[in-house]
Parts: sequence; C-alpha cells; structure tokens
Amino acid sequence: APEKPLHFIQQIIRKDIESGQVQQVVTRFPPEPNGYLHIGHAKSICLNFGMAEEFGGVCHLRFDDTNPEKENEEYVNAIKADVQWLGFEWGGPVRYTSDYFQNLYDWALHLIREGKAYVCDLSPDQAREYRGTLTEPGRNSPYRDRSVEENLERFEKMRRGEFAEGECVLRARIDMAAPNMNLRDPIIYRIKKAHHHHTGDTWSIYPSYDFAHGQSDALEGITHSICTLEFEDHRPLYDWFIENLPVPARPRQYEFARLNVNYTITSKRKLKQLVDEGHVDGWDDPRMPTISGMRRRGYPPEALRNFCTAIGVTRSDSVVDVGMLEYAVRDHLDKNAPRAMCVLHPLKVTLTNYPSDRIEEMRAPGHPNRDDFSERVLPFTHTLYIEQDDFREEANKKYKRLVLGKRVRLRNAYVIEADEAIKNDEGEVIEVRARIIEDTLGKDPQDGVKPKGVIHWVSATHHLNCEVRLYDRLFSDPSPDSGGKDFLQAINPDSLKILESCKAEISLAGAKVGNHFQFERSGYFCLDSKYSTIDKPVFNRTIELRDTWAK
Ligand code: ATP
Ligand code: MG
Ligand code: MG
Repeated sequence: APEKPLHFIQQIIRKDIESGQVQQVVTRFPPEPNGYLHIGHAKSICLNFGMAEEFGGVCHLRFDDTNPEKENEEYVNAIKADVQWLGFEWGGPVRYTSDYFQNLYDWALHLIREGKAYVCDLSPDQAREYRGTLTEPGRNSPYRDRSVEENLERFEKMRRGEFAEGECVLRARIDMAAPNMNLRDPIIYRIKKAHHHHTGDTWSIYPSYDFAHGQSDALEGITHSICTLEFEDHRPLYDWFIENLPVPARPRQYEFARLNVNYTITSKRKLKQLVDEGHVDGWDDPRMPTISGMRRRGYPPEALRNFCTAIGVTRSDSVVDVGMLEYAVRDHLDKNAPRAMCVLHPLKVTLTNYPSDRIEEMRAPGHPNRDDFSERVLPFTHTLYIEQDDFREEANKKYKRLVLGKRVRLRNAYVIEADEAIKNDEGEVIEVRARIIEDTLGKDPQDGVKPKGVIHWVSATHHLNCEVRLYDRLFSDPSPDSGGKDFLQAINPDSLKILESCKAEISLAGAKVGNHFQFERSGYFCLDSKYSTIDKPVFNRTIELRDTWAK
C-alpha cells in the first residue's frame, strides 16, 4: 500500500524536530472528568498519543478539572480505563490541572502586581453589556483601574471565601477594544464554593479554562498542545498568558477539526442527558457512541484506531459517514473473530433416520483462513435446531434453504432432506421431520441430487442456551444533533431487540468478555459484560456481516 501523506500536525512536529526547536515531543490528552469519553475523544486520543509514539515522545493524561460541580471520580476512572483499553499508555503519573492550583494562583498574583489583572464587581449582565459585540468595541469596566493594593486585598478575600459566588471575578487587563472578543479582559478566576473531587474544600476560587490550560501545558513541558478548532480564537489569549507570565517553557497550541459522525451525537452534555433520562442503559449502553459503549458492543480497539487513522487529521470541519466506522469494525472482526454457530430463532428438526442415542463429533475450523485458531467440536444428534427462516413448506428456486421434499447441507455436517412439517393449533410450523442423507460428510450425495444451500444448526440436546441482543442505530436521523432539532425526537424506537431463547454451539460456553465471534450467517457478536450470568450468557450483536442499512 502507498504511504499515507503526512498530515499537517505530523509536518509541524517533524519540522520542529528537524530544526532543533523541539528535542522531545510532549503532548497531552486533557479531558474534563464531567462525563464518559466518546468517539470524538478517540480521535483526539489517537492523535495525541499517536504523535508521541510516532516521534519518540510522551503523551500526558491530564484531567482538566476546573469545574468542581460537574466533575467526579467515577468519570476519572472511566476515562483512564478507556484510554488504556484503546491501547495507550500515558507518560508519568496521571496529572490534574488541580495539582497546579497553587501555581496558577501565584501567577494570578503576579499579573495583579504587574497591573495586568483586576478584581471586577460587574454583575454578569453588566459585564456582557460592557463587553461590546463583534462590530462594537467594549467599554472599560469601572473597576479596571483599581490599585494593585486594592486588587491584592480583594483577590485575597475572594480566595478566603469572603465574597458570595458571582459577586466579583478576577479579569486579565488586556484590551476592551480588541477585535478578538477573547482578549476583552477575560475572566481568569471565579468564585465557586463547591467541593472539588480532588482538592476538597481547599479552594473557593477556580481558574478559567483559558487561564489554566496553557500554563498547565507550560508546567508540564508540553511542546504541542493540540485542540479542536473552536479554540483557534483562544490562541491569542493562550499566547498572551504565556508571554506575560514567568512560565518555565513555551508551549504552542495547534487546532484540528473535531470529529462529527452522522447518525451519532458527540456532545457529552447530550449523551449525559440520554443517560440521566433513562433513554439508554447507562454510559456504556452498547448503542452509545461512548468508548465504553463501543467496547461493550464489541468494537475492537484496533478497529477504532484504524478508523481514526483512516479519517485523517485536517483543519476543515466535516461529517464522517458512520459506515466508515462500521467498515473498520467489520474489517478487523472478519480477520480476527473465530467462527461459531448460534440459532437465534430456533425451529426443531428431528432426524427420523438418525439413532436417538447417537452423538457424532463434527469438526469445524475456528476460522476459514487462520490455522492459529483451534478447531471446534460440534455434537451432532437426533434432534437439532435450525433458524425458523431457514425452512419453508414451499418455495421458489431463489430460496436456497430447507424446503419440504428438498435437500440442504447442514454446515460442517450432513445433507438432510425434509419430509414433514408439524404445526401447532395456530398453523405455525413447530417441528420439521427430516432424514440425513448417508455418506454426505464432506461429499455430495451419491444419487447426484445436490443440496442448493448451506444452513447453520446446533444440537437440540447439546448446546448452550443464551440471550442475544440485536442493536440498530440509536438515531434514525442522519443529523440528530443539528439545526435546533430536539435530538430526543430522532431516537430510533427499534434500536434494541432482545431474543431470550437462542441456542449456541457449546464451544461458546468458554466465551469471555472481550472475545469476539462471528456467528456464521448472522453477524459478529461478543459476550455482554453486564447481563451475562454463568447460567445464561448474553451475546451482543456488534455488527451485521454486511452493510444492510437502507441508504
Ligand atoms: P464535549 O464537547 O463532548 O463535551 P469537550 O471538548 O468538552 O467535549 P473534553 O473532555 O474537554 O470534552 O475533551 C478532551 C479533548 O478531546 C479536548 O482536547 C477536545 O478538543 C477533544 N475532543 C472532544 N470532542 C472531540 C471531537 N468530537 N473530535 C475531536 N476531538 C474532540
Ligand atoms: Mg473541553
Ligand atoms: Mg464541550
């Protein structure tokens, strides 16, 4: 395959290394622990950790925890698990922006002493009015020219919790007429009397994202601080803080386009709403675009990484077809998932010419072209199950399954011929009586009447009872998130189907969470980590064999 051309971030890093401006690449992935990670974060993880790997550097995991009310330890732990599951290792300890609160506070004092920050008592509404608009310059706050002493004293009072929330803020003193609104004396500290999951009740003031982010990067020696395009307008502010503070290093911010996927929501706030309102079964519901949801669904981490490589890194916003993600999942599973048979809608077949006390052990390959997978043993017995769909009393030539008076091959076993359909009072077929055709293991029938098709089956006496969960897209609208629409209205009511009495081949009794299987003719499946019990495993359908979604 031809080498993929370098994307713009790779080009920047390569140039920085070649020019000697950067010795060791240090990147960071900076999630806020206010929810679970989603497919968009996977792109950021693959990029940040990927660049460190590729250029022999390190990537830090830093929790950007400056909003105590929304953050907690559950999210911290889930995020760590997701990054590791994706196959990445962070350099050094897990870091927290809150580890730098003292340092950031000292730097706020530095700005005040330099006349570059002031305590402002405007109410939020007043501040908005003073801020101006895109076409009108803002006006200076009446508190802008407070003396250094007064600012130091008031900021100290803010720190000690002597003001109420919202009573005042600390602002950088930059330029109220700047065309870039982010430079119009932005807030750098606000009062929050909230308990923080990491620093407890130590602080009653918290730094803003803009004041915390670049300085944390500098403290950690981050060389390339990669974020999404929304932050492009914040870059002048990022640079202003770095230039006006005695920071130990000079990090630089680069922006790339965030990942959007059709039929998918990538907003933590909305995903949280789906969880909180019970539209889904938690953050790790297999229909969720969260990393934990995709893991539970059976998406392999390699497939997510391959997807992130395939979509590339650019500076132009676009929407990626969810089919590309599904392609990556299918492609990986086809090559790596062992095969198995499982009957989802069982129909009993009695083989009238096969002794009821006989068991033959049929052999089947673990994978059609991988000899590193062990062979499966399939007990063949007097009664079997096949899919209800695989039998008809009558059918035209296109139907290549079992029909009364006709033959079909049972995969990895005999050819059989159907003689009689037994029905219940409602006229539904509840059993098929059939015969095996002798001497057809791996051979065509000697009478020359060949079966038209091959169907899967399991022994009705030697199998594993299981539940199977079939998933479809959570949203039936290609852009559930756009144009002021209510995304809840776009929820697909048929996105989960539960089949309670499925019959799987007994080799699946050894299935473990994290294993993947192709159930022949049905799709790719994995053991559900939440609802499986020893007595009754539950298998999630990860994805169908082919793309069957109506385009
Ligand atoms: P959300 O908007 O879903 O709440 P966020 O940006 O607030 O996401 P963070 O926890 O701050 O969430 O994100 C951590 C990192 O992941 C950031 O660097 C952010 O830019 C990146 N990121 C978040 N969403 C996407 C996305 N859709 N595509 C690419 N990167 C993303
Ligand atoms: Mg964020
Ligand atoms: Mg956000």
